[in-house]
Amino acid sequence: MDKNFFEYAPAPESRALVSIKAQYGLFINGAWVEPKTKDKFATINPANEEVLSKISQASDSDVDRAVKAARAAYLKTWSKMPAKERGKYLFRIARIMQERAREFAVLETLDNGKPIRESRDVDVPLAAAHFFYHAGWADKLDYAGLGINPKPHGVVGQIIPWNFPLLMLAWKIAPALATGNTVVLKPAETTPLTALLFAEVCQQAELPAGVVNIITGDGATGAALVNHPGVDKIAFTGSTEVGKLIARSIAISGKNATLELGGKAANIVFEDAPIDEAVEGIVNGIFFNQGHVCCAGSRLIVQENIYDDLLAKLKRRMSLIRVGDPLDKNTDLGAINSAAQLAKIKELSASGDTEGAFRWSPDCQLPSKGFWFAPTIFTGVTQSHRIAREEIFGPVLSVLTFRTPQEAIEKANNTPYGLSAGIWSEKGSRILWASKALKAGVIWANTFNKFDPASPFGGYKESGWGREGGRHGLAPYLKGAK
Ligand code: NAP
Ligand code: MG
Repeated sequence: MDKNFFEYAPAPESRALVSIKAQYGLFINGAWVEPKTKDKFATINPANEEVLSKISQASDSDVDRAVKAARAAYLKTWSKMPAKERGKYLFRIARIMQERAREFAVLETLDNGKPIRESRDVDVPLAAAHFFYHAGWADKLDYAGLGINPKPHGVVGQIIPWNFPLLMLAWKIAPALATGNTVVLKPAETTPLTALLFAEVCQQAELPAGVVNIITGDGATGAALVNHPGVDKIAFTGSTEVGKLIARSIAISGKNATLELGGKAANIVFEDAPIDEAVEGIVNGIFFNQGHVCCAGSRLIVQENIYDDLLAKLKRRMSLIRVGDPLDKNTDLGAINSAAQLAKIKELSASGDTEGAFRWSPDCQLPSKGFWFAPTIFTGVTQSHRIAREEIFGPVLSVLTFRTPQEAIEKANNTPYGLSAGIWSEKGSRILWASKALKAGVIWANTFNKFDPASPFGGYKESGWGREGGRHGLAPYLKGAK
């Protein structure tokens, strides 16, 4: 194909509509306060390493202040408010997020490195949708089948990762508030800016002070929140490693916890699959959000007799992926979120080379500044390779093959994780059979990476505990509910 066939003129989104402060305090009890130690750290744009702002490092005593504010708001205001009124605040937040959607999208792209096309069309609309959805539940909890007059826990500590900063905030805060809890949330160190903008939205919505508190900081801040005796429940999304640490540290405290952890999803393509659609689904499954997706389809498991055809089409499609400026509306693949994540992707990919798999990437020019990794596939991967077992959390696909459907299921389930899976087949009966046999919390058929606030999300085994979203996602925020 003519290389210039898909050449596009740059179409950069303006960053004029976001105003980033030179530095930020902590959002505690409805107001901006300075951290006790005055410590600050930088958050950067991973696409060009520009320092965007200085962020406060919350210490143990700041965590204590935030938890106390959340407790006071719970006792004095939020638990006394009729559920219908709580719902109105959620609706108000959702509408303000929609009104400020472009601002949120640009800020998310600057701080995280993801393409504006994704932050604009996926992250921000879905985040608003989560508030709309949960606003509707606030006064209907008695009818959710979760027990009679279910009660909130009280104060919830929430810790989120950097891959979907605003969306993960919405997944956490919307159900917590709808069920009557108050929250202290810690965003990830590399992506705090949309959470801090969300604090402004809380002020704009006139949410009672202390119902939402946003504290920034590193892992030590997260650990202080987990271990604070005034926190009744923990909701964590992040790595399995930190999830295990958290499970251990709260084991004897009686705190309720939901843990949404890692994944190594199988995307299985059977011989009768619609190949062109499957290729789109494979690309979406692993290259969406630079592969920084816990449910990414990072293991492609293809039936042997269609392997050559599928691989040729996949490579051709991959050579059309546009890598570059995340603010350009044409960009498909943006920057890797941090130098540390890039190093992890490089190290695991190098293990693929040394363990005998074959690496392939299309020709693409990576920018000289910032953190970048070309879309990559490894073929000749066996189940013992590290790239087939460990979560790479980057734009790297491991390709394996199978002969019989039973072998596909065995390979797919041969992982300590169990978050998601994909099935590509024209036969409904095969899809139903395979989805029953797969040990994964979310299974997509002839599509991938589809999300909806009404649909519960969560994993088996080392992918975590509990569900988020839907009616199921309310239960972890209510005492005794199943
Ligand atoms: P991470 O290192 O576990 O960090 C997640 C959050 O926990 C961050 O806010 C982090 O703060 C904080 N943290 C670090 N150490 C802590 C500790 N000892 N106690 C309490 N909090 C602590 O994970 P990540 O690298 O940011 O995110 C990638 C991982 O998240 C992947 O494994 C991915 O699969 C998983 N993930 C899962 C889901 C899901 O729904 N299942 C969704 C998205 C991501 P710092 O930012 O300061 O380190
Ligand atoms: Mg950043």
